[in-house]
Amino acid sequence: MAVNIDTDMCVGCGACVDACPVGALSVEDHAEVNEDECVECGACVDACPCEALSL
Ligand code: SF4
Ligand code: SF4
Repeated sequence: MAVNIDTDMCVGCGACVDACPVGALSVEDHAEVNEDECVECGACVDACPCEALSL
């Protein structure tokens, strides 16, 4: 399990990358999660301005 990313909602701003305490997120055209690293803390969900992330 890991955070879910709605790639249609994501604008690639990078706020979630900065918010993630374990470095599980990266951004190319849109956010991507390393499912092995995500601990489902929810910090990125709160940080995203576009409601693109969910747990
Ligand atoms: S839920 Fe937490 S650990 Fe997982 S990607 Fe988001 S900020 Fe990182
Ligand atoms: S904070 Fe939201 S909109 Fe910004 S890169 Fe992350 S998922 Fe995409």
